[in-house]
Amino acid sequence: MKAGDWRRVGRLTVNEQRLLSRHGRALVAVAGLHALLTVLLCWLGALSLDPGVLLGMLAVLVAVAAPYLALVESGATAEWSEPSLSFPMALLLLAAFLVTAFGLDEARISALMLFFPLLLLVSFRLGAGALLVLALLAGLGYAAMLALAWWYHGVRMSPVLEALQWLVFTLVSLSFAVTGSGVNGLRRRLAVKNLALADALEQVRDLAIRDDLTGLFNRRHIMEVLERQKGLADSGIYPFSVCYVDLDHFKAINDAFGHGWGDRVLRDFAEHALADLREGDYLARLGGEEFILVLPQSDLDGAELVAERLRRRWGERSFRALNGPPKVSLSAGVACYREGETIDQLLARADRALYLAKSGGRDRVCREERS
Ligand code: GH3
Ligand code: MG
Ligand code: MG
Repeated sequence: MKAGDWRRVGRLTVNEQRLLSRHGRALVAVAGLHALLTVLLCWLGALSLDPGVLLGMLAVLVAVAAPYLALVESGATAEWSEPSLSFPMALLLLAAFLVTAFGLDEARISALMLFFPLLLLVSFRLGAGALLVLALLAGLGYAAMLALAWWYHGVRMSPVLEALQWLVFTLVSLSFAVTGSGVNGLRRRLAVKNLALADALEQVRDLAIRDDLTGLFNRRHIMEVLERQKGLADSGIYPFSVCYVDLDHFKAINDAFGHGWGDRVLRDFAEHALADLREGDYLARLGGEEFILVLPQSDLDGAELVAERLRRRWGERSFRALNGPPKVSLSAGVACYREGETIDQLLARADRALYLAKSGGRDRVCREERS
């Protein structure tokens, strides 16, 4: 799925909205085909309809098609239970088919043939119940139209043939409705499975880039982030800095309070550091009690300020009230990316700065030494 495909238009995704627009255009195309067929039959002299009725039917089709398309394509129907308005549109088209069929005689069934592709089309949108109701209404409407045609202008075809055609039309409509609802059910189940699959993929992706214990990015992902930042810095877009963070005397914490407390402190540090960061900064756990901050758009002074603030605030944290360690300090080493160097070279400089902080007595931030 492309990133843009799950942007929302009302309650619909962009993809759903695209399908909806396509469906709306297909329904209008059916209306257009019917109008064309009616005009053709009229031109061939096969249609004996009152001109007022004929023009009225064509006018209704034209008058409905344009606002219908505008409604569906604008996403204005997105919040409605059936945004495609398939049911009322199918009813309207069925009525138009019946009007034309009323004006025909031997060729009556030809004006009703478009009902089958119409049923197939709306089966992508309507449930089994609505499809069956449409098929039944079509059968009943056909019967009523026949009765009216007999009443008004009699028929040249034998009543048995007319009845046979009606029966075949009704049975085929019902079987289209049943098949259509089967296909629709299958489509819905597939859509549900697709959603579940997309969720599972998202989870797998998350697992691949995150550290189990803290939920922070893992080493692999932060390396990708660093390569991206290097690309941006090399194109002159903006500089970036990194900051290695290592919790002090962590082995002693584990030894004195147990591994469970050690894990708890690591999780707490992750939460605390994340809350302290700007949006756009990255934090990852490299392993053990070692973390790295990637600070886009920060020079060495800026990165040092961020690291110092984190050290100070984290240093105020105490777990003594919970019978845990009173204070866990951190040491940090910051380095700013120098154009053209490799990520390994940058990290080596941050690591040297961290070493300076450790050897200088811990609980402090050191910056890369100039070379
Ligand atoms: P320094 O101040 O020099 O960094 O000393 P330190 O004790 O923090 O560093 P050292 O590298 O000697 O020890 C790191 C300890 O971190 C060792 C290990 O028991 C602990 N550790 C590593 N991973 C985990 C973890 O996932 N959970 C817990 N609880 N402890 C961990
Ligand atoms: Mg340590
Ligand atoms: Mg360490």
